[in-house]
Amino acid sequence: MTQAKFEFAAMPDAEGMFGPYGGQLVPPHLKKAMDDISEAYDKISKTEEFQKELADLNATYVGRPSPIFHAKRLSEQLGGAQIYLKREDLNHTGAHKINHCLGEALLAKFMNKKKVIAETGAGQHGVALATACALVGIPCEIHMGAVDIEKEHPNVTKMKILGCKLVSVTAGQATLKEAVDSAFEEYLKDPTEYIYAIGSVVGPHPFPAMVRDFQAIVGREAREQFLASNGKLPDHIVACVGGGSNAMGMFTAFLQDDVHLIGVEPAGKDIETLGQHAATLTKGKPGAIHGMKCYVLEDAEGNPAAVHSIASGLDYPGVAPQHSYLKDLGRVDYQSATDKQTLDAFMTLSRVEGIIPALESAHAVAWAIKTAPTLGKDETILINLSGRGDKDVDYVANLLGI
Ligand SMILES: *Cc1c(COP(=O)(O)O)cnc(C)c1O
Repeated sequence: MTQAKFEFAAMPDAEGMFGPYGGQLVPPHLKKAMDDISEAYDKISKTEEFQKELADLNATYVGRPSPIFHAKRLSEQLGGAQIYLKREDLNHTGAHKINHCLGEALLAKFMNKKKVIAETGAGQHGVALATACALVGIPCEIHMGAVDIEKEHPNVTKMKILGCKLVSVTAGQATLKEAVDSAFEEYLKDPTEYIYAIGSVVGPHPFPAMVRDFQAIVGREAREQFLASNGKLPDHIVACVGGGSNAMGMFTAFLQDDVHLIGVEPAGKDIETLGQHAATLTKGKPGAIHGMKCYVLEDAEGNPAAVHSIASGLDYPGVAPQHSYLKDLGRVDYQSATDKQTLDAFMTLSRVEGIIPALESAHAVAWAIKTAPTLGKDETILINLSGRGDKDVDYVANLLGI
């Protein structure tokens, strides 16, 4: 029996569903606002004017395409597969997030919005969005957990310098989840004049699809670059997964290929203890959070669980609906790295290649370091190095007593 090849990339459907995940679990007035954004996005993103402005800014402002670097010394030291890095850390503002922030800010401009509102975890989305809003000329308001504000001081200062309004959120655990709740509350005050700019491939439709589309440039470039330099595709492609945007951005171009795709979640201090990790796909179950159906980590009462990761950008008890579906389909292999393995990978990449990775990205590096020695020398691993570690150096130095 012949079967048509499953169209992994042909998602979501008209209702924003990725299989049983995604959708719009929001009150009616918010659904109207989301549908308006969806309609505007479909129309505006297809115009030549929008595409040309985004392409110009990607080239001249972000610095795209980001290169692929062959980490020869690291590969040699590990004695197995050849390791390559897609250098999203070299983008203006230091991470992949500028890719969707520019898209979202431009969309806001084309829609004549008066204010862009968002949450931020590690501060990377906040900095990238404040940057894009400064460039485009729209007021920007960022909600951030008080705990993260304490931990991510340089990013907080950058956001203030870039001219955005920073709102400190002290409710609950005072991290990313509470920041999302607070930002949505502000947005609901005037969804006509304001626009919400979600920081990952999460939330109600159209955000999981829209953010993925803006990030997909990463995989499109990587596929072309790797083919040009190696004459074949990578055997393994690995990315860290928090909400899942850098991983989706990288994976989308390879979903139909015979390539092993690995998403690495934060195993934190202990993956067997709820509250000590943020490995949502590995340890969670199907549920709902922040306007979407997806895998979630829940406590005994059925509320979103407390989560932990050494990387604030990964500590979220939900995850992208598309990753949830790709897990069920078995197309992407979801694994995890502990805080300790991540810290080791952070130091190793810094000292062996002179590249200080973000603690988020170091989760993907940790998988490569663990796996490369078990593979043949003719095999290749491409790591999506989602961001640089400048924001993490004081935190790591304190932790290690450097
Ligand atoms: C925010 C962030 C992440 C996690 O977000 P995803 O949506 O899972 O990509 C990963 N890496 C860096 C550098 C980040 O700033």
